[in-house]
Amino acid sequence: MTTSDPVTTRPAVRSAAAGADARLAAAASVLDDADPLRAHRDAFVDAETSLVYFDGNSLGRPLRASVERLAAFARDEWGGRLIRGWDESWMQLPFDIGDALGRAAIGAAPGQTVIGDSTTVLLYKLVRAAFDAAVAADPSRVEIVVDRDNFPTDRFLVEGIAAERGGRVRWIDVDLAGGVTADALRAAVGAETAVVLLSHVAYRSGYLADAETLTRIAHDAGALILWDLCHSAGSVPVEADAWQVDLAVGCTYKYLNGGPGSPAFAYVAERLQDRLAQPIQGWMGAADVFAMGPSYRPADGMRRFLSGTPPIVGMLAMQDTVALLEEVGIQAVRDKSIALTEFAVQVSDELLAPLGVVVASPRDPHARGGHLTLSHPAMRAVTARLWRQDVIPDYRDPDGLRIGLSPLSTSFAETLAGLEAVAEAVRAES
Ligand SMILES: *Cc1c(COP(=O)(O)O)cnc(C)c1O
Repeated sequence: MTTSDPVTTRPAVRSAAAGADARLAAAASVLDDADPLRAHRDAFVDAETSLVYFDGNSLGRPLRASVERLAAFARDEWGGRLIRGWDESWMQLPFDIGDALGRAAIGAAPGQTVIGDSTTVLLYKLVRAAFDAAVAADPSRVEIVVDRDNFPTDRFLVEGIAAERGGRVRWIDVDLAGGVTADALRAAVGAETAVVLLSHVAYRSGYLADAETLTRIAHDAGALILWDLCHSAGSVPVEADAWQVDLAVGCTYKYLNGGPGSPAFAYVAERLQDRLAQPIQGWMGAADVFAMGPSYRPADGMRRFLSGTPPIVGMLAMQDTVALLEEVGIQAVRDKSIALTEFAVQVSDELLAPLGVVVASPRDPHARGGHLTLSHPAMRAVTARLWRQDVIPDYRDPDGLRIGLSPLSTSFAETLAGLEAVAEAVRAES
């Protein structure tokens, strides 16, 4: 379009915008060409379509290999092996996948990670186990420390545990565009703290906590700490062993692409396993599963954190992403993640800031995980409009459009196309 085009009412503005678009498109293309992970995007279902997916941090895209794996399992293992499958491999699967996930994604040596129930149920089991162990060691430790902007399930369940066990919740106030700092945690913990529950990457702002430092602060106060890794596993490096983390739980259907409702993982440091008793005592966590004995005695090691029959079908797909992470390395994934969010901030500054959109996430990439929140009063309507156009971010109150940039399945060109659509939708809804 030229500046003399008769339908152009504001020629100078239009040509400036077109110039910015062309420059950003060239930048996206340079970044895609230089991206060492570029080819892996094609391994995802429907990667060839023009759909823009900005929600891999809520529900990751499936790998094509997972489609094959699920079909083969139904046909050959479930269909072919029937009940024999339990003895042949399924009983061991939660531990085998846990160890592989521990190695590829969270810096855990074998024997400390297991695939179990939903994130919520595993958080409940481990927070309660940690609380009870802390109170048993020192009855004055009755506080559970959590921040006011932690994910709802995390906040709700600590309130339930405090009520059930005669404990108290100590709340940390946080900036909604940031997260829990070292100073804020230092001010909240002390001689009455039993356990601290924090998210490594904040679900709203994307704030990346300094987990190593915060773990040390909790330990210096004599408390245990549980990290919620839902928004970090598979996206940012985690060093559970090296950071001396006590406990961790994380989702597998976000950056690990396990599929809707795939079961979560739990990490319990080896030094703590035999000191912790979880509250849902079921036969699968008992010392001898098939003894069918008169009373419960917890198994040694990670098996004690299981309760009932492991959800085998749900834990199939995540194996493909864990294998891919093992192949490419989590640091390469993080490097691309930073490049993607940096590019998205740049595009947002150029195309969205003039429309009144604010980046409600840390601007320092080292303080940010794999997603960004863009804030504007029209974002609820903007999200609905974008979904109709096959551009899929999500919306979080207040006024936040969340842009999740899953490094293995997202390109720079896709990121630009999506943000251009956001700009158009903000204009339309303002
Ligand atoms: C997604 C998420 C959850 C989800 O818990 P479910 O039991 O899987 O529904 C919990 N905590 C955080 C921080 C999350 O981001």
